[in-house]
Amino acid sequence: MSSKGAAQTPLACPSAQPDMAGADVLGVMERSEDGKLRLSYVTAPVPVTPELLEKTGPVPPTEVLRFSAPCVESKCQHFDGSKCQLAARVVAGLGIDVSHAPPCKLRKTCRWHAQEGVEACLRCPQVTTHISVDDPHLKAVAGVG
Ligand code: SF4
Repeated sequence: MSSKGAAQTPLACPSAQPDMAGADVLGVMERSEDGKLRLSYVTAPVPVTPELLEKTGPVPPTEVLRFSAPCVESKCQHFDGSKCQLAARVVAGLGIDVSHAPPCKLRKTCRWHAQEGVEACLRCPQVTTHISVDDPHLKAVAGVG
């Protein structure tokens, strides 16, 4: 069903680069009680500033933080013309990580959620944008292997 004349809300990428237009902090990677790194989602807008990015040094900001930004669709290597293949690989290749969809300010516009539903949210917290470990499986999911 389409709403005639209504502008479509642009979808947002939940694993964006901090220098993308409209980037905002989605969350901070934190070690959970079970030893796994998971995203702790921020609830308010956190603008991306040079000062914020400097604070993560010496590691890349994308290893410590996750950013959202408007999806650039065909300008992104993961977009196949209709779908985000990164979201598809996350759902197909990663195990469920949490028992409930995390509280997340992005949900209404998130491309991963719009495409894959709650299955993306149940896997999302374990995703880091920058993969520093030499893990062939994670790299294959990220499309950098
Ligand atoms: S996949 Fe779900 S939890 Fe992750 S950013 Fe999108 S809406 Fe939030």
